[in-house]
Amino acid sequence: MGIIYNAQSRVAVAQAPRRILVTGGAGFLGSHLCERLLEAGHHIICVDNFSTGLMRNVRHLSRYNSFSVVNHDIVEPLDIEIDEIYNLASPASPPHYQADPVHTTRTNVIGSLNLLELAESRNARIFQASTSEVYGDPHVHPQVESYWGNVNPFGPRACYDEGKRCAETLFHDFRARRGVEVKIARIFNTYGPRMRPDDGRVVSNFIVQALKGEDITIYGDGTQTRSFCYVDDLIEGFVRLMGTDPSFSGPVNLGNPGEFTIAELAEQVVEITGSRSRIVNRPLPVDDPRQRRPDITLAERVLGWRPRVPLSEGLKDTILYFERVLAQSVREREEVA
Ligand code: NAD
Ligand code: UDP
Repeated sequence: MGIIYNAQSRVAVAQAPRRILVTGGAGFLGSHLCERLLEAGHHIICVDNFSTGLMRNVRHLSRYNSFSVVNHDIVEPLDIEIDEIYNLASPASPPHYQADPVHTTRTNVIGSLNLLELAESRNARIFQASTSEVYGDPHVHPQVESYWGNVNPFGPRACYDEGKRCAETLFHDFRARRGVEVKIARIFNTYGPRMRPDDGRVVSNFIVQALKGEDITIYGDGTQTRSFCYVDDLIEGFVRLMGTDPSFSGPVNLGNPGEFTIAELAEQVVEITGSRSRIVNRPLPVDDPRQRRPDITLAERVLGWRPRVPLSEGLKDTILYFERVLAQSVREREEVA
């Protein structure tokens, strides 16, 4: 029997194993989610096009007979027997989602549509990994779910931000007009083991730069803020949201309300790694949001959820992970040479 959280009573309840599709399952968050759901006894089908995902993120899960991986791009329809869907498929790091912006929009709009149609045909509950980017460069701080956001539809971030906003619209309308049971999480910056060293987001960039003794690149003056959630906390939030009553769809913010400037993050990484890297400033990317912090009142009330891992602790684990990955790639290069 699998275990899920009953969000209303906040106790673990036994449930029959389900067939669960995790799109983007070979990515950073997706691989942690697959692991968590397999441990709970479910059958997991991981669908991924491996654009940013890595087989090494999920290879260890092949020990479960109940785990399978399908190489598929969600912009093409798929037809499989499932009870539940978690849709995480989309590049998430600005350099990755801007590399092929049309495909990013296609993934978030056409891909979401394909999965909603699959959910409707199978009478399956479906979860959407939405994002704090729907708030754009926010004028309301901290961000509450009722805020409509401030997004530039014509800039380099728009393929992702508007793609995710349109996906939320599709989820809303499939729920309202077609009775599909949907769950929408607005995820704030999350970090942890299994981010790629070349992911391009700030936590992995700073850690890799610090460990290699390279310059730590702060974009702009470093006074912009972000709120960083450790991956285990976030995955707990996903599972609790999926276990809520059908009447609750969200959107609900999931993130750590601790807010740090990017300069403070750089200082913490230098301190923990003991690195001798220099901190340097580089130009601020276009439309880079000034500030970001989730209001998690709704998540606390409905899911009984709040993050537990402080940034300093989460960074230590993440740094240990990157030390291992970098050491491994040095060994591999030496073997080839
Ligand atoms: P990631 O890049 O590590 O994972 C994304 C996964 O989706 C990868 O495995 C990639 O290969 C796969 N993918 C991309 N496009 C696809 C397509 N068209 N078809 C099939 N697979 C595809 O990123 P992540 O941080 O794990 O993000 C996972 C999800 O969570 C994304 O939807 C992202 O928008 C959302 N999210 C993440 C964060 C965060 O801080 N990590 C914040 C907000 C939202
Ligand atoms: N950033 C930075 N140096 C880097 C990468 C990112 O200063 O090497 C900044 C970036 O400009 C932004 C913040 O860190 O202000 C968070 O960037 P990230 O790409 O991680 O996420 P997002 O901008 O999508 O929140």
